[in-house]
Amino acid sequence: LQLLRPDSVDRAVAALGNGSVGIAGGTELVPLLRDGFVSAETLVDLRAVVPHGVEGERIGAGTTLAELEADEDVPQALREACALAASPQLRAMGTIGGNLLQATRCWYWRLAYPCFLHGGDRCHARAGVHREHAIFGHERCASAHPSDPAAALLALGARLHTDRRELAVGELYRLPTPDDRDLTALERGELILELEVPRPEASTYLKAMDRRAWSFPLVGVAAARFGEDVRLALAGVAPIPWALGSPAELDEATPLPGTAYKVEIARALVRRALEAVAAS
Ligand SMILES: Cc1cc2nc3c(=O)[nH]c(=O)nc-3n(C[C@H](O)[C@H](O)[C@H](O)COP(=O)(O)OP(=O)(O)OC[C@H]3O[C@@H](n4cnc5c(N)ncnc54)[C@H](O)[C@@H]3O)c2cc1C
Ligand code: SF4
Repeated sequence: LQLLRPDSVDRAVAALGNGSVGIAGGTELVPLLRDGFVSAETLVDLRAVVPHGVEGERIGAGTTLAELEADEDVPQALREACALAASPQLRAMGTIGGNLLQATRCWYWRLAYPCFLHGGDRCHARAGVHREHAIFGHERCASAHPSDPAAALLALGARLHTDRRELAVGELYRLPTPDDRDLTALERGELILELEVPRPEASTYLKAMDRRAWSFPLVGVAAARFGEDVRLALAGVAPIPWALGSPAELDEATPLPGTAYKVEIARALVRRALEAVAAS
């Protein structure tokens, strides 16, 4: 395995594709390489080229979760989502760009079952063990999106700047189809460079998890209030981060037999999140 250290975005983009993969903190990519879910002849180190740090509403995609958690200029929902993710060691290495692009934690997928997301014709979790899985959007794949910060960024209405375009964070994600099993809309070799995160009047992120630390979200709820307008987004409930138009939309959830409990957790967390961001 070869390691390249480009010194500009153009050189990094030119080096990507054709058997090379970008690496930032490596906390997600290294296990995927080890387990054979990603193969690469060359790793392209992104750390010198992807912007890093917080400047007003702009956040470099190379900023670590630990840095975001500690920065008082960052909206509360994003700080809390970062603080509740993974472990201190992983947050010190893992970047926000890499976090948005992490693969599913579904055990069938991680154990290499030939399921829909791996290109097969059925979802093994739907008929099998699916306690951690989805309550929305699971027609083909019932996985639950694992990123806490992605839900916070969705509620905050964040935009992403890549090396070739600008898009809303909601446009980064897509449900898989028979023609395209990818859960993100990034092109091959496209780099996320910066996030633009509006400042709300109030925001919060609440998370239900199996253990108090180092656990992926069973349900995560982000709420952000801009004036009178409150936006909600959920983690852990669909294959992608899920925007919730209103609390009543939880009545439209279609839980699997083993995930019905998530609807009740989501209702309780949405209620608490709305109270937390309400104008006093
Ligand atoms: C045990 C464990 C527990 C975890 N728990 C949680 C949790 O509770 N909540 C949560 O939200 N997350 C959790 N995570 C995920 C963790 O936050 C991510 O692994 C981390 O943020 C990824 O960042 P990285 O820089 O290490 O990415 P890398 O591993 O370097 O890269 C991940 C992927 O993103 C691509 N990439 C990286 N940066 C860019 C960029 N700028 N542009 C384009 N592509 C890029 C890489 O090519 C690769 O495909 C957990 C991870 C582990 C291992
Ligand atoms: S939930 Fe998705 S990743 Fe898991 S088995 Fe079903 S298709 Fe595969």
